[in-house]
Amino acid sequence: MSHHQAKLAVESRAYPLFRYDPDGGLTVGECLDLDGNPNPDRDWPVTKIQYVDKGREKEMELSTTFVDFAVTEARFRKHFRKIPRDSWNEDMVQVSEYLDLDEDDREDKVPFVWALDAKRELSRLLVAQPMIESAEERRAFWIMLRDLGGVQEPVADVDEVQIESRVRQEVVQKLASSLMGLVSGNQALDMGAMLDAVSSEPAQQPQLRAVESVAPAADGDYMAPWIDTEECTECDECIIINPQIFEYNADKKAIIKNPWIDTEECTECDECIIINPQIFEYNADKKAIIKNPNGGPYRDLVKAAEKCTAEVIHPGLPRDRSAKDIDKWIKRAEKFN
Ligand code: SF4
Repeated sequence: MSHHQAKLAVESRAYPLFRYDPDGGLTVGECLDLDGNPNPDRDWPVTKIQYVDKGREKEMELSTTFVDFAVTEARFRKHFRKIPRDSWNEDMVQVSEYLDLDEDDREDKVPFVWALDAKRELSRLLVAQPMIESAEERRAFWIMLRDLGGVQEPVADVDEVQIESRVRQEVVQKLASSLMGLVSGNQALDMGAMLDAVSSEPAQQPQLRAVESVAPAADGDYMAPWIDTEECTECDECIIINPQIFEYNADKKAIIKNPWIDTEECTECDECIIINPQIFEYNADKKAIIKNPNGGPYRDLVKAAEKCTAEVIHPGLPRDRSAKDIDKWIKRAEKFN
């Protein structure tokens, strides 16, 4: 995969290419050559991806951001979580669009990145904040490089409706201000109100790209609970609310005590079921679930997490701390929680 990953690293602006020839000219722009970077006039290049939706081949265009590169690298895996399809909702925003939002508009929005599963069907992965910050840093670097290299930003797409609306507004404003000079007092206020009414016509909202495979928003938003443990700020809130569910690990970062599985990521390798079928079982889709967290010793949960080929088992913490070598097993479980 090294060739593929190297190409993706360039395309996603993770590692943009540039060549500096000191004899190229007098200015930095003349000496710097950004050849080899796709769509140099854009923040992120646009690529097409093919996928399968309800058995049919489909295609869509996607901006390739740094996050789209990171999601393919195992070292960044902890920054992504699969979102069950029945939890998809309208507050989820594809990452390139999320990056274009300002801080206020990002409130209540959840960034996700598209991924293809083994059947080439689309799935959504939740993107953790460090990935967003890295993408912003890479974008800022690319913009600086592009500016030094003298690459112009693209001319914005012409939106005829917007232009028509703006021209209409300008004409009305000019007309109104001329009339304002002729009227006085309340009449002027009425004209102001009229002007307000004209200018408060709903503005054209930028449309999110239509993606055929997006399922309608589900009413129920249930997801298996999980914590970005490394991001925990140790504020105690969760522990105060329910110490039966939450606890600090050895680094004083909050974790969830109950064991759980990223069931949708299960690759049906049987390992956990072999270790303890009283704890683990397959659901109707042949994906592993926790049947009974107390169906066996805590060490079986840890062993299953260690054996799990998909690394989707999270052992939580033992209810019974008196078992032999329990501290050793808690320690071994740490990296899966
Ligand atoms: S060990 Fe992991 S991948 Fe294998 S069946 Fe169990 S949960 Fe699924």
